[in-house]
Amino acid sequence: MPDYIIGTMIIILSKEISAHDKKLVYSLLKDSGYTVREQTLCGDTLISASGKGLAMHELEILPGVERVAQTSKPYELASRETRADDTIVSVGPVKIGGARIVVIAGPCAVESREQIAEVAERVRDSGAVILRGGAFKPRTSPYAFQGLGMKGLEYMKQAGEALGMPIVTEVVSPELATEMKDLTDMFQIGARNMQNFELLKRVGALRKPVLLKRGASATIEEWLLSAEYLLASGTNDVILCERGIRTFETFTRNTLDISAIPVVKGLSHLPVIVDPSHALGIRAYVHAAALSAIAVGADGLTVEVHCNPDKAFSDGPQSLYPDQFEKLMRDIEALAPVTGKELQRLPPPNAKKVSEISFSSAWTAAFSLITEKIAFSGRSGAFAERALINAFGEDADRLPVSSFSGVFDAVLDGRAAFGMVPVENSLTGSVHENYDLFLRYPDVVMTGEIKLRIVHCLMANEGADLSSIKTVRSHAQGFAQCRDFLDKHAEWYLEIHPTTTDAVLSIVKDGSKNAAAIASEAAANAHGLVILKAGIENNLQNYTRFAIIARKQEGKQLIPAVSGPKKPNKASLVFSVKDEPGALISCLGSLSGEGINMTKLESRPILGSPWSYMFYVDLAIPEDEALFNKALDALKKQAVKLQILGVYRAAA
Ligand code: PEP
Ligand code: MN
Repeated sequence: MPDYIIGTMIIILSKEISAHDKKLVYSLLKDSGYTVREQTLCGDTLISASGKGLAMHELEILPGVERVAQTSKPYELASRETRADDTIVSVGPVKIGGARIVVIAGPCAVESREQIAEVAERVRDSGAVILRGGAFKPRTSPYAFQGLGMKGLEYMKQAGEALGMPIVTEVVSPELATEMKDLTDMFQIGARNMQNFELLKRVGALRKPVLLKRGASATIEEWLLSAEYLLASGTNDVILCERGIRTFETFTRNTLDISAIPVVKGLSHLPVIVDPSHALGIRAYVHAAALSAIAVGADGLTVEVHCNPDKAFSDGPQSLYPDQFEKLMRDIEALAPVTGKELQRLPPPNAKKVSEISFSSAWTAAFSLITEKIAFSGRSGAFAERALINAFGEDADRLPVSSFSGVFDAVLDGRAAFGMVPVENSLTGSVHENYDLFLRYPDVVMTGEIKLRIVHCLMANEGADLSSIKTVRSHAQGFAQCRDFLDKHAEWYLEIHPTTTDAVLSIVKDGSKNAAAIASEAAANAHGLVILKAGIENNLQNYTRFAIIARKQEGKQLIPAVSGPKKPNKASLVFSVKDEPGALISCLGSLSGEGINMTKLESRPILGSPWSYMFYVDLAIPEDEALFNKALDALKKQAVKLQILGVYRAAA
């Protein structure tokens, strides 16, 4: 064994431990020369103790000690063994790790005030959430451009502040770290300095987030040990960055070690991002490498972008043009839901608490700060909860209610700022119940949408198996989306519950081995059920479109900062038509007459009025907003009744 393993024990304390007993544990450890660190994890108190001399059972017999474990990894604080949950690092308003993908972008080096301001605006516009740029450049040649130093950092800070964008920049010496501390939101440790231990210790002690690049010749274990240096020195916020390693291949600048991403995510709880620019070194390959990183589970990317790469002071050949970066962001946005994630966005600059939005100037809308609750139907592990987390982040304040109408109620009476309801599934079509609710709640509007990939699992209590199941419980949508699988088990009795998580809870409650539920993997984990079969939906292309709903306010509307285009580009309407020949055609003609593209048309019976129908339409709002308003005016004249369900930004 390498000599740096001094033996680390993890001591999990009982929730009921008395102060006196806890003191006893500490005294024994400290008197035996152990270094002790306490943390809480999912409500448990956990002490990690490094040193030697004590046997596990000597601690296990102490009152108030629940369990003692020995870690086998030399990197203790970075290891999943000490922390099962993913660490989420906050850099200003940006959260790295978890359900959302973060893209950092900017030039290799800050070259002038104008250069950094211009490129910052371009990358921000395309959806980057953190600005990168080197002020101190560690260059292979002493004659190459070394960076503008502190002046460059000030230019970058100003550019970031003007756009509400946090910044990351490389620190190359322990002395500079202290000087740079208040000017940067995150430090970058470059590949060349990954094992500069004095630098790691100094930067770690400043307790700021650190982006740790992998050394060009570093093994995964060496990389994680460098992260350990940072964590042991004081910071809790380390992000690992794979940026290519040196191999025998010389065609590309380095070799992107794509396999390191799932491996490191398994070994460590820290977020892992990828730098495709330094890995490939050639602009033409950055796009493909970036997408592969997202597909394999990276939490984000850092990409070099320059407005004039041919004139760049450093790394021009690998820097994307802003237009190429924009295309990359669009593709990442489309890919993200396949991986169960969502691209993270920043609120528009100059965000206001409540945005101004009206149908004639829908796009002057600004973002409202999300501080209030978001309602969803179901319990922990519900698909709507996942959609909510993808849209608003892990720390979104959630309000679980028991039905879809409960979500509308919560939004209407102000218990929630937003609600998340499914409106359409790619396999089974519209969720009519929610469309009908928009009519019952005319003061609630759609203010955004998000697409979520749905993977269904059959789950049951421990000890049950496929042959013991007699009854299956789920929401009606769960049954419809798993029809092919259920058809193979025609003997099962299907029992409809208000939500998939209600079905899960009913199984937990009655403890039966004859009943199973169809719900998400997260629901099985949250409520302690075992998965009998995963991925039982009829088709892999199973997506649900969720509407984000909010209360309509006089001329105002809350807008969530979910990913999507910069301004509202989609509207959903419902109308009924006169009972006369050609009435529907004339209504649709009002839209097509202005060149409006209809993306969905559906009819629904009007409740209480047999054989008469409401028509639901989704349409794309053209660049020229006047055309949309003209079409609406024309439609108002033709239709008997017209309700605008929402004007919002379409999901990818
Ligand atoms: C950089 O990000 O600008 C940089 C120098 O990267 P690396 O340390 O990975 O070479
Ligand atoms: Mn560079």
